[in-house]
Amino acid sequence: MPLIDPRNRRIDYLRVSVTDRCNLSCAYCKPAGSMKVLPHADILRYEEIHRLVSVAVPLGITHVRITGGEPLVRRGIVPFIASLRDIAGLDDVSVTTNGVLLEEMAAGLRDAGISRLNISLDSLDPARFARITGSDSWHKVWRGIEEAERCGFHPIKINVVPVKGVNDDEVVAFARLTADRRIHVRFIEFMPIGAHDRWHTDACVPASEIRETIEKVFGPLEPADRGTGAGPSQNFRIPNGQGVIGLISPITKHFCESCRRLRLTADGKIRPCLLSDTEIDIRSPLRGGCGDAELERLLRFALEIKPERHYVTDSPGRCSVRTMSRIGG
Ligand code: SAM
Repeated sequence: MPLIDPRNRRIDYLRVSVTDRCNLSCAYCKPAGSMKVLPHADILRYEEIHRLVSVAVPLGITHVRITGGEPLVRRGIVPFIASLRDIAGLDDVSVTTNGVLLEEMAAGLRDAGISRLNISLDSLDPARFARITGSDSWHKVWRGIEEAERCGFHPIKINVVPVKGVNDDEVVAFARLTADRRIHVRFIEFMPIGAHDRWHTDACVPASEIRETIEKVFGPLEPADRGTGAGPSQNFRIPNGQGVIGLISPITKHFCESCRRLRLTADGKIRPCLLSDTEIDIRSPLRGGCGDAELERLLRFALEIKPERHYVTDSPGRCSVRTMSRIGG
C-alpha cells in the first residue's frame, strides 16, 4: 500500500535534514540568540537514515531532498549520497545548499548521482549578504553557482526569501538573472520556521507583490512549465527570458491540499508538516533495534496525523518588521 494520507494526498517526497549545523547564520533562519547545536550522538547516523529511506522507498517515496542545517558541512556527505543510489526505486536525490562549499564539492555531488541543486542566495550584494548571513562568503557562493553550472547541473535553482526592509528591493535584480541564463530563481515567502520568533506577516513579501514588482519592469510574465519534481512553485518567464521565475506562496496561498512531503529532522523525528511542531520519534525505535515493519508503521502514523493545512496565518507571529530591518541595508 502506497503512502496515502486520510485526505488522499499521496506522499512521494522525503526531505532529509542530515545536520543542524550550518556555516552561515542567516538572521531569518535562526532564532535570535540561539546557537545551541544538537549533541553529535543525537544526530542520526548515515546508516540510520539509509535504513529509513530504504523502508520508505518501496512505500512510494521516489524523491529525497538532502538539506540541513547546511548538508555540505557534514563529513562524508558525498559518499552517503552516493550510497542512496543503491536503493532501487529512488529516482531522484537532490540537495539544498547555501553554496559556500559548492565550488569544491559540485563535481563530487554530480558524480554521486545528484541531478538537481537548490542554492540559497538572499542578496546579490556581497556586503548585504554578509549582514544577512554573518559571513563574508558571497563571492565563494557565486563561484560555487558557476562551478555547478560548469559541472552540468540543470536546472540550477536559486532560492531567495524576500523579507520586507531587508532584501525586497532586490526582486528585480534576481529576476533579471533569468533574462539570459537558464537559471531558475525561486522566490519563497518568508515563513515562521527557524527564526519563528522574528516572523510576522508584515515581514513576509507576498508572491503577488513579487510578481507585480517584476511585471512593472519586464512586462507580463509568461507561464512556464512546472518542470521536474512538480513542487509547489508557480513558474513563469520574463518575456524572452532563458530562465524561469518561481513563486512559492506557503503563506498567502498555501498549497497544503497538494502537499506530498514528509520531513526527517537531523535528530530523527518525522515531521508531517514543516509548519507544525508535531513530530514522531523514529530514532529511539531505530536504535532500539526495531524491525522494518515498525518503521513502516511509524511512517504511516505520520500520515494519519498530517494536518489538513497549516494554521500560520490564523495566529500571526509576534516579531516586528523593525527587528528584521536591523539586518537589512
Ligand atoms: N543550508 C541550506 C540552504 O541554505 O539552502 C539548507 C537548509 S535551509 C533551512 C533551506 C531553505 O530554507 C533555504 O532556501 C532557506 O532560504 C529557506 N529558509 C530558511 N528559513 C526560512 C524562512 N523563515 N522562511 C522561508 N524560507 C526559509
